[in-house]
Amino acid sequence: MTVPFLDLSAAYQELKSELDGAYRRVMDSSWYILGSEVTTFEKEFAQFCGAQHCIGAGNGLDALHLILRGLGIGPGDEVLVPSNTFIATWLAVTHAGATPIAVEPDSATHNMDPARVAKAITARTKAIIPVHLYGQPADMDPILSIAREHGLKVVEDAAQAHGARYHGRRTGVLGCAAAFSFYPGKNLGALGDAGCVVTDDAELAQRIRELGNYGSAQKYHHEAVGFNTRLDELQAAFLRAKLARCDEWNSRRQAIAAHYQTRLKGADLILPHVISAAVPVWHLFVIRVQQREAIARSLSEQGVATQIHYPIPPSRSGAYASLGLEAGSLPIAETLSREVLSLPIGPHMSIETADRVCDALLTALDGHG
Ligand SMILES: *Cc1c(COP(=O)(O)O)cnc(C)c1O
Repeated sequence: MTVPFLDLSAAYQELKSELDGAYRRVMDSSWYILGSEVTTFEKEFAQFCGAQHCIGAGNGLDALHLILRGLGIGPGDEVLVPSNTFIATWLAVTHAGATPIAVEPDSATHNMDPARVAKAITARTKAIIPVHLYGQPADMDPILSIAREHGLKVVEDAAQAHGARYHGRRTGVLGCAAAFSFYPGKNLGALGDAGCVVTDDAELAQRIRELGNYGSAQKYHHEAVGFNTRLDELQAAFLRAKLARCDEWNSRRQAIAAHYQTRLKGADLILPHVISAAVPVWHLFVIRVQQREAIARSLSEQGVATQIHYPIPPSRSGAYASLGLEAGSLPIAETLSREVLSLPIGPHMSIETADRVCDALLTALDGHG
C-alpha cells in the first residue's frame, strides 16, 4: 500500500454527482465559450475572495501576464519577484516585456523577505509580485507600505493560496490585483487548465477582460492587441462545484498540517514556519532536510511519494541563463532548492495515512542522521 502525493481520483469520487451534473449542464446548453457558467463562477469566486471583480483566464500564468499588461508594465520596467518560486511568476514578467528582479526569501517562511524588497528597488521598478508560496500568505503589510512609499503596484501571485487569510482577509484582495491558478493539483483545481484575475479596480478589470478576449469588448471591435486566454465554460462549471467545497477541503489540509507539525516536532528537520498574521491553506507541506535525496529515496522505498518544490530556482534555469545569475548569486533560494522536501498532503488524506508518512520519515531520518 503506497501513499500518493495527492489523490485526484478521490476528489472526483467525492464530487462525482456535482461534477457529472456540471458536465451535463454545459453539454445540454451547447454553449462552450464565455457563457453563464463563466459569468456565475466569476461572481462566486469574487465573493469568496471578498473582491469586486473576477475575470476568468486560460491559466494562472496568463492571469498574471494579463495583470501586468493591464497595468501598462512593459519593456524597460523592472518587477520584483521572489527568487524562490515556480518559474511562472518570472515568466509573466518576461512575457510582458519587463525584467524580473529576484528578491530573496525569509529563510523561515520561504516567502519574499520584506526587508530585502526596499534594497531591490531602482528608478525602473514598477511593481512587486509577492507569491503566497505553499499556501501561506506573504507578509504583505511591510511590502505594501514600501510599495506605497515608492509608488509601486503590488500584484499577488495567489496560485497556491485560494482561501488563505492574512490578518483575516483572503488572498486576492491584499494588493491591486491577484492571479489565481486552477491547475488540477491546486487547492481549487479545475479538470484541466484554468485561472483568473481578482481585483477591486473596475477599470483594470475591464482592461484585463478585453486583453484576454482578443482586445475586444464588442465582437469584431479590437481596441488593443489582445490575447486569447479565457476560462472555459466547462471548467467554470466544474469549478463552481469545487468552490462550494474549497473551505472544507482546505480545513482538511489544515488538520493534516497540524498533525505533521505535532508528530514531527523535535525530529532532525526544519518544519514550516507560519507567521502570526497568516492562516495558510497548505497547498504544500514543505520541510527542510539534510541529505534530502537519501531521505526521499528511503520514503519512496517505504511507499511514500514526495516531491520537490522546486529543485532549480528560476535564476538557475536555462530559460534565464541570459540574466547571468551565477551559482551563489541567490544563496537562500539555492540552499532551499537543495533541502526542501514536500510531504503528501491533500483533502482526501486521512490522519492515519499522515501517521504512516511520519513513521516512514522518522525511520528514514534514523537511517541517515
Ligand atoms: C501554478 C502556479 C502558477 C501558474 O499557474 P498555471 O495555471 O499552471 O499557469 C503561477 N505561480 C505559482 C506560484 C504557481 O504555483
